Amino acid sequence: MVLSGVGDALGYRGGRWEYCTSGPQIHVELAELGGLEAITLEPPEWPVSDDTILHLATAEGLATGLEGEPLLQELAHRYVAAMGDMEGRKPGPTSILGTSQLRPGEPEGYRIPFNPTATGWGGATVGAAMRSLAIGLRYPHAWELPTLIRVSIESGRMTHHHPTGYLGALAVALFGALGARGEPPERWGAELLRVLPLAWDYVESAGVAVGENAAAWSFFGDAWHRYLESRGLLEGCGPPQMPSLSSPAERDAVYLGWALEGWPGRSGHDAPMVALEALLASGGCWEDLCNRGVLHGGDSDSTGTIAAGCWGLQEGLASVPPGLPCCLEHRGRLRDAAHRLHMLAWGRH
Ligand code: MG
Repeated sequence: MVLSGVGDALGYRGGRWEYCTSGPQIHVELAELGGLEAITLEPPEWPVSDDTILHLATAEGLATGLEGEPLLQELAHRYVAAMGDMEGRKPGPTSILGTSQLRPGEPEGYRIPFNPTATGWGGATVGAAMRSLAIGLRYPHAWELPTLIRVSIESGRMTHHHPTGYLGALAVALFGALGARGEPPERWGAELLRVLPLAWDYVESAGVAVGENAAAWSFFGDAWHRYLESRGLLEGCGPPQMPSLSSPAERDAVYLGWALEGWPGRSGHDAPMVALEALLASGGCWEDLCNRGVLHGGDSDSTGTIAAGCWGLQEGLASVPPGLPCCLEHRGRLRDAAHRLHMLAWGRH
């Protein structure tokens, strides 16, 4: 939880780096700052963005221990409330629209209409993915997969009612669960492809806008199939075939090839893809993880939230320069939520 906030604040840099389309430019500016070791992440230059505020809403909602309908109502309530803390945090247009349509407390008030523009074509869809790692921390066990599917899809489509959006939430929740129980990232993508038909079964059985969801369903899985095939990971066994992509410009070009509308990491399908690519290629090196998963052209706070959070599940804080987490905005809330989720999931601290 804390490192997901670190990835957000670093990738955001008060809006300066989130909206920078050039990885090489970001790396020039990073060098001028003295590198990662010289940075202290704290406001006003380094606040957390909408990603962390909404991730906290998910985490603190799950940490109540509620289940079923009451949990979905609680999450809807917290997403609406979170929009009151967005000054200087640049929330996405789909999150703003979605939360304006929620009616928490009313019967099924956590549902909004299908949103055909929430594809990445015409609207950012990463907003559901960036707030979902905590779902995997709450439901890490294999036998909890049906709950993880339901909660990630329903919480995701509270604002992003389009498969390209809410399947991003499913992907990140699943990666969180797999990471929490020690599965290596080489397996995560193949597991996602295995889970997608189960996710469809859930969407169909829930009976909400089934036809519209069906018509838009295939893009996400097709994109992931292509990516995993390119890395030799369709079967989920390593070693992955990773291109070196040693320069920021090379990485920007590859990430652009996965993106919609020329904005890498802005969509539900490619933000978790950039994050997984960074995890696979960085080999446990924090600086390399940041270079690949946070400090690139595009929606770098969202990919950073996901990549750094997943990295933390494996590596913890030990090799992270202390200036990054020490003064992070909302660090205490992130840590407390993580402890409560861990207690609920594993029954101990
Ligand atoms: Mg953001």
